Amino acid sequence: MLRAVILDLDDTLYPEASYVASGFRAAGAALAAQHGVAGFAAMATAVASEGFAGKVFDEALRRLGADTSLAPFCLAAYRAHRPEIELFPEADEALRALRPRFALGVLTDGWLEVQTQKVAVLGLAARVDAVVCTDAFGRAHWKPAPTGYEAIAEALRVQHTACAYVADNPAKDFITARALGWRTVQVARPGQTHSAVPPTPAHAAERVAEGLREAVAMLQEWGADG
Ligand SMILES: [Mg+2]
Repeated sequence: MLRAVILDLDDTLYPEASYVASGFRAAGAALAAQHGVAGFAAMATAVASEGFAGKVFDEALRRLGADTSLAPFCLAAYRAHRPEIELFPEADEALRALRPRFALGVLTDGWLEVQTQKVAVLGLAARVDAVVCTDAFGRAHWKPAPTGYEAIAEALRVQHTACAYVADNPAKDFITARALGWRTVQVARPGQTHSAVPPTPAHAAERVAEGLREAVAMLQEWGADG
């Protein structure tokens, strides 16, 4: 029976694009204040929205006629900033609905410094029982490496077969969860950052939901089984 629900962070609990916009604003403000270069946030947003394949920060600086050696400064400001982000309204509802019934966890990839700030701003530590950032174990342990899945199941003191993972990115989120025996739900929303199409059938989630409301209904059903 399902006992634990583990949620991904980016584009599952809050819109990832809002973090990127917040980071561009912070990098732009730092660049203007310390190096006198204006217009970075708008330019980086324009470059990113084109689906630019190269380094967005370098390209934005180049188009502004600024020195591209400032890119590491911008990246550092981006990663260190305190993000202006909010949970999806339905994420707030989902956490309330699931908390009385299941052990709850967050399992997230991404730079530890960045993910830690997101978790803090969103107030997630108080709303779930455990948070695991895979980067705490090193870059080699990002999903789909099993380390994070093992760590969160252990932190929640549950068997793998009692876990479900709710996430957005079939390229990396579900293949290991399924191999370990977890249930899986893909949340597929319009405008999400990553492709909703699994690269192979083994990467697909067991179920696909249009949003967290539908995902919660699936989880409640699984929680009531056997
Ligand atoms: Mg995600």
